[in-house]
Amino acid sequence: MSRRLMQTIPPPAPPASGRGDSPSLAAASLEGLCPRCGAKTLFDGLVSFAPNCRACALDLAGFNVGDGPAAFLILIVGAILAVGAIVFDQAVAPPWWVHIIWLPIGAALTVYGLRVGKAALIYQEYKHRAREGRLAE
Ligand SMILES: [Zn+2]
Repeated sequence: MSRRLMQTIPPPAPPASGRGDSPSLAAASLEGLCPRCGAKTLFDGLVSFAPNCRACALDLAGFNVGDGPAAFLILIVGAILAVGAIVFDQAVAPPWWVHIIWLPIGAALTVYGLRVGKAALIYQEYKHRAREGRLAE
């Protein structure tokens, strides 16, 4: 009886605003998607996570991505800006004030890089069920 009942119940509908299936790492990272349902609900600020997914109620506050993305990003964005400024200066030799262009480029790379890095880490934590270490009782 219960088996027959189970077969007649349709599977749960995908969340209304989500894709309904788990996104790939690249899609979740680049677009800020929820690692469980694929809805675009990961961020509620420029680089801050929402407390939970508005589509599937996944508790995002329970994950801790730490400062890893920021520390890694300093090296990458710093290298891109330094090499870009040197190559640009050698090729064009512009007036000094033209190099102000590196400020908004650096800010944009930092914000987008932080979003991608944090989304990638929370995706990996969700997929691999990474949690704080606990002592065995
Ligand atoms: Zn979700």
